[in-house]
Amino acid sequence: MNRAVFLDRDGVINRKAPEGGYITRWEDFHVLPGVFESIAILNQAGFCVIVATNQRCVAKSLVSAAEVAKLHEKMTDFLAQHGARVDAVYCCPHELTPVCRCRKPAPGMLLDAARDHNIDLNVSWMVGDSDIDVLTGKNARCKTALLTAADVQASESSADIIAHSLLDAIQKMVGRISKPSVMTRG
Ligand SMILES: [Mg+2]
Ligand SMILES: [Zn+2]
Repeated sequence: MNRAVFLDRDGVINRKAPEGGYITRWEDFHVLPGVFESIAILNQAGFCVIVATNQRCVAKSLVSAAEVAKLHEKMTDFLAQHGARVDAVYCCPHELTPVCRCRKPAPGMLLDAARDHNIDLNVSWMVGDSDIDVLTGKNARCKTALLTAADVQASESSADIIAHSLLDAIQKMVGRISKPSVMTRG
């Protein structure tokens, strides 16, 4: 079975839109520092790299599902051009209600990815910049990393790792993976 690192999109791979806004166009998609390198490290370490993103902008008709799919294709191509391979992108296009099985913190996207890519969730990670991402990871029985600019202490979050950037998280994660206690789990 494979192990995966699930990545939230906005605030992890690309710069977030201002509060209440959405990134719907490639012109507004700005990859954050260290992202190419981080994903390349995960590729080399043998992880599946899978993006799991809520995009309620589709339900709000701000953008079509096809346009979001195109944006994700561009993102994947652009990352690959920089040596960073994303294996798959899962996107929840739904509204808050009716409740769907894929909108984070529901684990639907991670469960689908596990089925599609033969992933062992217990040795996989969810990385995101919100508590919702941490909860999603926990709901799928993954380990979790929270990216935050704030000075959050480990005791203030239920995440396994607190980091200031994706690269910081990946370095901490790879450090943990190489410990024997974690190795025996996989
Ligand atoms: Mg986010
Ligand atoms: Zn959904």
